[in-house]
Amino acid sequence: MEKTATHLEYTKETALRFLTMGKSGVEGLYGQADTTRREHMGDDVYIRGIIEFSNVCANNCLYCGIRAGNRKVRRYTLSADEIIETASAMATRHQMTVVLQAGESPAFGDDLLGGIIRRIKKETPLSVTVSVGNRSRETYRYWKECGMDRYFLRFETSDPGLFLRLHPGSTLEERLRCLGDLQDLGIQTGSGFMIGLPGETLNILAQNILLCRELDLDMIGIGPFIPHPDTPLGEKRNVYNDNPEMFFKALAVLRIFNPDAHIPATTAYDALFPEKGRDLALQRGANIFMPNNTPACHRKDYLLYPDKPGVDDPVDQYLESAVSRIRALGRKVGEGPGHSIKKRKALTLQR
Ligand code: SF4
Repeated sequence: MEKTATHLEYTKETALRFLTMGKSGVEGLYGQADTTRREHMGDDVYIRGIIEFSNVCANNCLYCGIRAGNRKVRRYTLSADEIIETASAMATRHQMTVVLQAGESPAFGDDLLGGIIRRIKKETPLSVTVSVGNRSRETYRYWKECGMDRYFLRFETSDPGLFLRLHPGSTLEERLRCLGDLQDLGIQTGSGFMIGLPGETLNILAQNILLCRELDLDMIGIGPFIPHPDTPLGEKRNVYNDNPEMFFKALAVLRIFNPDAHIPATTAYDALFPEKGRDLALQRGANIFMPNNTPACHRKDYLLYPDKPGVDDPVDQYLESAVSRIRALGRKVGEGPGHSIKKRKALTLQR
């Protein structure tokens, strides 16, 4: 059995050793990840509701189903009132955080989103996470003043060359600058990566995990690459197509390397392992569940990858199922805002 996480050397070599572990060691790895999660984060699973408020995007990330170049997408943008109305319903449904997610587009102005954040903070008890891509430091600062608690921006891959190929016109350096700005401003910051992108090596996967640790993130979201047919990578396969255990190994190592971070069981796990993917993720390091609260009429228009689970389920049914799944694992639904451990420590010091 491995030494406990606190005595580990957090190096790429250690990550690689875990990732290449054979069948006989893998249950021990999952057990270690689950123990680390329990000791550092407890048994609470926080439910955070996502509103995909616009699928308009100016970018052309090669893997993404709503990239600007995909003419098959029916574009939509919710009005401010629709967003507030959807968010207001969340607090009565176990969700104390709203995640406002959209494509990266200057069309949805800073002031408009700032006004929405202010209204949510004034009219609801929710914490607000925003995820709308690379923005200027000034914009992040302004949204923080409006009440934004957290920001989520995945780096997707730690390899600069692969990043450039996947994100035309954008660099890893710029993405890391955004993450640095968010952290400097004291905003709870989340990031993460995709597992098995074409061109990814095991070395890059280990480096991705290490970069999450080096960035000292509050939240880390990862998920398998799933090719979308209407994208340039539509014909490609996930590097680990024949070794899907790697998706869970990566999650477990991520938890061991980042004991204090919130880690969601992302929907992509359910897409690849129907009806049990997220349960397994919660048993192998994850502690957050993120149901989709986007109005039903728009959910099919926000497919970053095909066959996304839950797009036809009414929100209430989807939520009840999430709560049942959490309880069936012997876990509790987290109450309150579920701030990051760093934020909670800072709040305690202020008292
Ligand atoms: S991943 Fe995000 S920024 Fe890239 S095309 Fe999709 S929505 Fe736009």
